[in-house]
Amino acid sequence: MKKIRIRLLLLLLCTLLLCGCVRGGASPAAPTAAPVESESTAAPDVPTESPAPAPEEEVSVQEGESEKRIETLSRQEDIPVFRDMEYERPSLEEMDTLILAAEEAMDSGADFETLEPLLDDCFLYYYHYDTMYTLADIRSCLDQSDEYYAEEYLWCAENYTLIDQAIDGLYYACAASPLAAELEENYFWEGFCEEYSDETESIYNDETVALMQQESNLIAEYRALMAEPVVNYRGKDEPLDALLDRLTGSAYNNAVIAYYTQYNDRVADLFIRLVSVREQLADAMGYESYEQMQYSYGFGRDYTPEQAEGYLQDIKSYMVPLYRELSVSSVPYEVWYSELDEETLRDILRQSVSDFGGSVLEAYEFMLRYELCDLKQDSRKVNMSFETYLNDYEAPFLFVNSEGTNEDILTFAHEFGHYSDAYVNLNAYETVDLAEVYSQAMEYLVLSRLDEQLDEEEVDNLARIKMIDTVEMFVYQASYAEFEHRVYALGADNLSAEVLNETARQVAKEYGYYVYNYDEFFSLSWIDIPHYFEQAFYIVSYPISDDLAMQIFDLERGEAGAGMRRYLDNLERDFSGILGLVDAGGFESPFAPGRVAAIAATAREILGL
Ligand SMILES: [Zn+2]
Repeated sequence: MKKIRIRLLLLLLCTLLLCGCVRGGASPAAPTAAPVESESTAAPDVPTESPAPAPEEEVSVQEGESEKRIETLSRQEDIPVFRDMEYERPSLEEMDTLILAAEEAMDSGADFETLEPLLDDCFLYYYHYDTMYTLADIRSCLDQSDEYYAEEYLWCAENYTLIDQAIDGLYYACAASPLAAELEENYFWEGFCEEYSDETESIYNDETVALMQQESNLIAEYRALMAEPVVNYRGKDEPLDALLDRLTGSAYNNAVIAYYTQYNDRVADLFIRLVSVREQLADAMGYESYEQMQYSYGFGRDYTPEQAEGYLQDIKSYMVPLYRELSVSSVPYEVWYSELDEETLRDILRQSVSDFGGSVLEAYEFMLRYELCDLKQDSRKVNMSFETYLNDYEAPFLFVNSEGTNEDILTFAHEFGHYSDAYVNLNAYETVDLAEVYSQAMEYLVLSRLDEQLDEEEVDNLARIKMIDTVEMFVYQASYAEFEHRVYALGADNLSAEVLNETARQVAKEYGYYVYNYDEFFSLSWIDIPHYFEQAFYIVSYPISDDLAMQIFDLERGEAGAGMRRYLDNLERDFSGILGLVDAGGFESPFAPGRVAAIAATAREILGL
């Protein structure tokens, strides 16, 4: 047994959602054309391929405002392989019983030594709950037709608020007990007593819990609505997937637009209700806006919405012009997507990871030994990639829905960046911004070490694929962040389907990817972006964290091994925000003048523009 710092997974929707980050952390999200078998990834003006929600990739970064220190098991070597990990529905009563025992001990004047194991039991059960929730989620994602795990996942998600509320109550009880000071000193963290001194300040009261549950229900409603859309096409109802499978050319486009048109009102209505609930929640929790609340409470960011807004402006000034240039160049048509099977994919990563050595190689071997990754191409799998964490086993899990092409190298590298981070830091609390630095930097680093495994032309090709991806990511994700910012600034009372569509159209124009012929596509396709529904104000983290990843890439390009060393040196850490990494790692702040211009210059060089 050893003491480690872990955080309380404070509620929100957080883990429930394994909150999303875009595939590769970088591909243009939803309303763009699916690039896979198309010759161009820089073709957002082409709704000729799948309009399906972009392959969203996720990392289970759980929001939490505090770090907690409890007694927990260190990583064991005798854990079962993934398929043998047992699921059973966790028990709310068990949680209550454990908490009651700890509270009774405090009431009866127990000493610290008596109380400590009782508290451990509570927190370990809390993590067990999270583990069961995660197991159900992974298995449901592996086979969407599995009704048992779908139901278990929903059950765990729905009851998460109650578990968090119970743990929150325990904190207040600890802070009010005669042992409070001793607990702060030896069990919790500095400032604990102060933080939990006044129970009337708890974020959990009847009003907030009801609002959180409403929010959770609306998100579930969105998921259900979008899971298997049915479109009325030429007078006949048909599942969208089947329809798109058999159509091509303009018929395909028409079906896509039919889907967006027919779902517009329903999704807009749901979204407006969601915005309204979130406004009320922010108000009830004492924040001046939901945006403000997400920055501070939701994502624990160490920068402000104003700084982010400045960054978006720079993207408009420096990245959008490059994007426009790229769109009319031949570059996107010159890259190719070649077939790649799972075994080769594993070999390629293995080789690159061997170069890293140390804890990154160890993480890779751990992952294979316990079968903690799934790279299969399988239509039953959910169309996204993510990394998540099984607390009971201190084991990260990697899920990639492979496309069977060379681009899988980047997706796998991205998720493996998350994996290494979670493995090395035992999933310690971090902001999404920080998490996405490790994943995106891993993509660039793996890309830099493929020379021995792929021929020069292929390496070059992949580098250009990645750079196109980076430029698009900056432009699209910034525009989506702008959309959210404007929508919440307008407020639920001023929203309607028309206003939402118009806002989407406006940002598409301002960020340079609007095409007149596809007006409907650009004004209606916002309904496909899951982040708007599941994790509001998450999106801005993509470009901001990629800024540091690009700094690592630039180091590596300057001197082989330099970027990798910087990565390894800063992997194990005791900070949680992106500006913490800036300080500790000697990076430039993303908010320093000239950063976006510098990234655009690197991209321009690699793309030969
Ligand atoms: Zn990611």
